[in-house]
Amino acid sequence: MERKSRQKIEIRNILSQNNFHPTIEEIHIILKKRIPGVGIATVYRNVDKMVRNGEIIRLEVPGQGARFDGNTEKHYHFRCEKCASVEDVWLDLDMEGYINSAPPLKDALINDYVIEFTGVCQQCRHSI
Ligand SMILES: [Zn+2]
Ligand SMILES: [Zn+2]
Repeated sequence: MERKSRQKIEIRNILSQNNFHPTIEEIHIILKKRIPGVGIATVYRNVDKMVRNGEIIRLEVPGQGARFDGNTEKHYHFRCEKCASVEDVWLDLDMEGYINSAPPLKDALINDYVIEFTGVCQQCRHSI
């Protein structure tokens, strides 16, 4: 198989893990075990392309930079303030419907919104 497409397939595999939101560095560490010698610049390039193609999602995590998510279904995230882990939150919120039916800003065109939950995760709560 061509090296380039193999990298993309492996990155997709890594990100298809449920409830997993690695940073570029974490993706690189896992990928290196599967494709020895792969550089982080290549990972950046592939991941960036996949984000632009809508295959994966880029999460902006305050103070941590970006994390990536292979699950492109609409969902939200919880971030632990202690260990910085990120977890999926599934909510049946019809925000698009709400924005369309009762625009919160007059005359502004809203393209996107961000909802982030923060707090202390289960593990941190029980490891005191
Ligand atoms: Zn935690
Ligand atoms: Zn997620």
